Amino acid sequence: MPLNKSEYDKKYCQPLKPPLISWDICCEMHHRKKIPDLPVGGFLKQSLIDFPGYISAIVFTAGCNFRCSYCHNAQLVLPDKIRKASKYDVAELLDWISKNKKMLDAVVVTGGEPTLHKKLPVFLELIKNMDMKVKLDTNGTNPDMLCCLIDYQLVDYVAMDIKAPLEYDRYKEIAGHLFNRKMFESINRSVERLKKGDISHEFRTTLASELSIVDLRSIADIADTNYYIQQLREPGTGNIVKNEISIDSVNEMIRNHPKKEFIHVR
Ligand code: SF4
Repeated sequence: MPLNKSEYDKKYCQPLKPPLISWDICCEMHHRKKIPDLPVGGFLKQSLIDFPGYISAIVFTAGCNFRCSYCHNAQLVLPDKIRKASKYDVAELLDWISKNKKMLDAVVVTGGEPTLHKKLPVFLELIKNMDMKVKLDTNGTNPDMLCCLIDYQLVDYVAMDIKAPLEYDRYKEIAGHLFNRKMFESINRSVERLKKGDISHEFRTTLASELSIVDLRSIADIADTNYYIQQLREPGTGNIVKNEISIDSVNEMIRNHPKKEFIHVR
């Protein structure tokens, strides 16, 4: 059952009631308790490609509820590796963003899966109060938080993975053994929420070896706006990992698809 507005206000948005917290006030009043304890496992100071049109800093949250076969982010996904990886101090990170906001337009929050963390809305509120744009990358398994972030205008753009055709067994094949029916329903709700049309968004699919051209076509059917098919890339080098599906056949599928103007390969 979806949460109604007052239920998700209670669950996620308590700290967002006016007056909004600003980072300066947070620092001045030494409200250390207000600093969200978001587990951050990676931080990139500047990127020109993650939020097209904007210079952005990238925050990688640690923890994920999927176990995709192609995942290269074990240190952000597997609890053992997360424990051993170095953590970022959220206060220092917010301070750095605040001091360098003149050279940034936006912050991209990615993972792992950022919406697993209850403190994400508070973190984004602090970023928005620095007059920055926010892009969220999500696997769509927390539609309640997604609704909250959209309704409170804490995100400007959402990139949501659709990892497989919307069939439970196919999805589980790619999202891994932790995947369950509740997550599947949540993903469907997140897709519907984004398609309401009040938030800029994209859907995207990584070209996993388990996928076929028929799968890609049926995922493209779901998308209402920009849909990106992402080629698998080697971490570090960025080289494209060869797949049984040739890029020519992907391009042919796109040419013959009724929504071809919305479908892109990257
Ligand atoms: S959702 Fe992303 S971070 Fe999580 S396991 Fe899959 S690829 Fe890795």
